[in-house]
Amino acid sequence: MINRAAPTDYDVVVVGSGIAGLSAALSAAPNARVAVVTKGALDDGCSRFAQGGIAAAVGDTDSAELHYEDTIAAGRGLCHPDAVRVLVEEGPARIRQLIDWGVAFDTQDGELLLAQEAAHSRPRILHARGDGTGLEVETALIRRLRASSARVIEHADVTGILTTADGLACGVSITTDPGESHVTTLSSAAVVLASGGASRLWRNSTNPESATGDGVALAYTAGADVSGMEFAQFHPTALAVDGAPRFLISEAVRGEGAWIVNRDGKRFVLDVDPRGELAGRDVVARAIWEELERSGERCVFLDCSPLGARAAVRFPTIAATCARYGLDMTRQPIPVSPAAHYMIGGVTTDLEGATSVPGLYACGEVAHTGVHGANRLASNSLLESLVFSQRAVHAALGWAGESPPAQPGPTRLTSHQRASTLDPRDGWNALRDALWAGAGVVRDQNGLRAAARSCDDVVAATSGDSTLSTMQLHAAASTASLVCAAALAREESRGCHLRSDLPQASDQWHGDLVMHKDRGARFDRHL
Ligand SMILES: Cc1cc2nc3c(=O)[nH]c(=O)nc-3n(C[C@H](O)[C@H](O)[C@H](O)COP(=O)(O)OP(=O)(O)OC[C@H]3O[C@@H](n4cnc5c(N)ncnc54)[C@H](O)[C@@H]3O)c2cc1C
Repeated sequence: MINRAAPTDYDVVVVGSGIAGLSAALSAAPNARVAVVTKGALDDGCSRFAQGGIAAAVGDTDSAELHYEDTIAAGRGLCHPDAVRVLVEEGPARIRQLIDWGVAFDTQDGELLLAQEAAHSRPRILHARGDGTGLEVETALIRRLRASSARVIEHADVTGILTTADGLACGVSITTDPGESHVTTLSSAAVVLASGGASRLWRNSTNPESATGDGVALAYTAGADVSGMEFAQFHPTALAVDGAPRFLISEAVRGEGAWIVNRDGKRFVLDVDPRGELAGRDVVARAIWEELERSGERCVFLDCSPLGARAAVRFPTIAATCARYGLDMTRQPIPVSPAAHYMIGGVTTDLEGATSVPGLYACGEVAHTGVHGANRLASNSLLESLVFSQRAVHAALGWAGESPPAQPGPTRLTSHQRASTLDPRDGWNALRDALWAGAGVVRDQNGLRAAARSCDDVVAATSGDSTLSTMQLHAAASTASLVCAAALAREESRGCHLRSDLPQASDQWHGDLVMHKDRGARFDRHL
């Protein structure tokens, strides 16, 4: 039963402060009581690191229709056409909103500069600070958030979605301080989950520490549908230098003319696709993975010599990072190899960002809107975050306006039942190694089964312990288990889900695999 007596602390609690959470909070703040809860500092998510830019059909030679066609083509038959329509048609308005909010995109003679990236048929990538797009966006949006009426709660892990006895979302529980594991709750009429992706669960990843898939585990535990978890996208070109982080070398570098070559200087991607370096991400990542298997080498190379000195001007962050590791990108080939980069799957949402739990909305990388199908088109994720965060927060405010104040049911808060004997460091290592070895760029049934066993072991070893470090690991392992289960279940290769034991796409699998904690898995066939 919903308790109608007590008012809520907030109209909306937004979980996460990447581009999705910030844009949702900024839209809501003028007219609603909003709290933004984030587990690190405000700019700790993936958004800050985005380099290439944001795709939107704003150029003279471009149209929403062309952007639609490119997105659908990249998605290998699994994009939700209605979601892609929303993305491409509302994209330009969201760009104007970002400019109104103070984001300074790169321009020339007063005109927006547009770059072309792999698998986009037109120049349509807006960028800022050269390759510092995410930093510019986060900086502008955070400045605006700080000046708004929204309450900002940093360094606070959301460790539970509160639900009423009827299963409506009605707030979050937050745990702070790993030593003490202090738990507090915030009640709200609606929750907007914008907690980002999960790619840091793999051993080799371009993502920051925050991207451990918490939101999927939180929503799944609260009873939400989760879908598309087999589709984890690997970026073909992450820096592969000993001792260096797997820093992303953006697609835009190839868009500007750089080549991928093996140690003999051969452009081997041309052997599998006539578009060569400009082929889709799945094609290029697989070509590199197979070249590495064939040669036994640990990296291939990105040859930026076709760009000449322009490379360092157009890509200052990449040039500076390479220089830090003794590489001059204008004269030396950059060693690169694939790394986990983007989680296509996530919490299932409709076009308004609503999940299957009333009052719970999701947007950004944590959500599965169906926009990306089986393979995300580069630079569409920032746009997806912007477009669907606006839709989600408007729907959440509508819900908040209509639904009565609700209080959590008594059984939903976590209680400390037992102490885990697993050292969290060992658990994280086991998880990351298992996913990289068994659920990497190319998978097969045996590897996936082994990975699933390792993840399930970590889930079992960490359940019931409410110290923050163990709860964080438990959430990560739960999400990793869903990845393995989905990848095992989808018996075909499609987009970025590549099975060496089942190399063809199959009509039988033309749809979404949806998972629910009580109802198990179902297959939603696309018509
Ligand atoms: C190196 C790199 C380059 C990229 N380049 C591009 C690009 O050029 N173009 C493009 O379109 N996309 C790019 N992407 C992808 C894009 O950046 C992300 O998909 C997008 O930023 C996701 O935004 P988000 O707001 O959903 O998540 P994030 O920006 O990751 O934010 C998630 C937030 O949730 C918080 N959080 C997570 N769990 C919890 C919890 N339990 N409790 C509280 N808070 C929590 C995090 O701390 C963070 O604040 C890139 C990604 C990376 C890593």
